[in-house]
Amino acid sequence: MDFINLKKQYLEIKDEVDSSITAVLSHGKYIMGPEVELLENELKKYVDSKYSISCSSGTDALLMALLAIDVKPGDAIITTPFTFIATAEVVSLLGATPVFVDIDSKTFNIDPDLIELKINEIHSKTNLNIKAIIPVNIFGLPCDYDKIKSLSKKYNIEIIEDAAQSFGAQYNSQKSCSLSNLSCTSFFPAKPLGCYGDGGAIFTNDPDLNEKLCSIRVHGKGNHKYDNINIGINGRLDTIQAAVLIEKLKIFNDEIEQRQAVAKKYNDYLKDYFDLQYIPKDYKSAWAQFCLLAEDSLSREKIINYLSDKNIPTAIYYPKPLHMQEAFSKLLNVDLDNSFNITEDISSRIFSIPMHPYLSDDEIGQICTALIKVKNEL
Ligand SMILES: *Cc1c(COP(=O)(O)O)cnc(C)c1O
Repeated sequence: MDFINLKKQYLEIKDEVDSSITAVLSHGKYIMGPEVELLENELKKYVDSKYSISCSSGTDALLMALLAIDVKPGDAIITTPFTFIATAEVVSLLGATPVFVDIDSKTFNIDPDLIELKINEIHSKTNLNIKAIIPVNIFGLPCDYDKIKSLSKKYNIEIIEDAAQSFGAQYNSQKSCSLSNLSCTSFFPAKPLGCYGDGGAIFTNDPDLNEKLCSIRVHGKGNHKYDNINIGINGRLDTIQAAVLIEKLKIFNDEIEQRQAVAKKYNDYLKDYFDLQYIPKDYKSAWAQFCLLAEDSLSREKIINYLSDKNIPTAIYYPKPLHMQEAFSKLLNVDLDNSFNITEDISSRIFSIPMHPYLSDDEIGQICTALIKVKNEL
């Protein structure tokens, strides 16, 4: 059994993807070929955003967004410690300071009620200038953007939506990637919308930010290639990856619905046995991962081993929260409270089971039967 079945998806659209890639090989415009703009038009239509800037990865999307708002040493960026390293890595790369806020124990997203306390703590204990909040839509579930936006207005702080796991998700009637003035996503193969290599995109409604991001994407270029007006990066999306994504986007809505169906079946089978990620009313997850909580880390280990014996793959996102990573040991502000109890508890108990649009009822049955059996034996 596969954790994520990308082969099956490829076979579904093999002819379309093959001819789309072949078309790029024939016209030879490997860098910023016509498919790139075509894809960007489709992406911005999909999320209902004015501008879409494709780029080389989700990490570079975040880096470019931070560059676009001039993040620099002395700036604090508020985010969650329960995320992939990239979210906070780009902050430190620019010499700014990541400041973590603990998560909600049910949604696993940044706890909006703790953000304001942290803002006050930063103001009273440090000289840092709070530049932005990066809410991460963990496992595909959007954060509470109404609350985060009201804080953003009150304290004049930018929001950068980390939608690397949530392309296709919805908050009320709005699509993820349109939930803040700057939104970043990833097309890494295992994400809900993935290409066949690295890729990402940034979305904004602001024409000035769009222009700046297009410049940053190509070494900060000005009106011509060898005129540089910003410090930028080589952040372009390959034309071949754009060609793949154009075809994958055509079946993406169906895939998102299939993910909903899989999640519903998992939920029906498992809700009486395990705590699952809570999806609030009017939120729609893109189901990048389907996560369960074990009672403690020892029972998690037993469950995972039992499933592994039955040939059922599992994964742990994330076993070590960011505030406990060695990479950040010297980069966090020591005057702030850097203990995050909910995150540490969830990290010690969480695990995920196979999730993709092509899971069969038979596979779902096998997985849930095994989970319920091992749970009853614990
Ligand atoms: C995957 C991921 C990223 C980085 O995306 P890449 O395309 O792998 O660079 C950033 N943030 C989160 C939350 C992610 O899951």
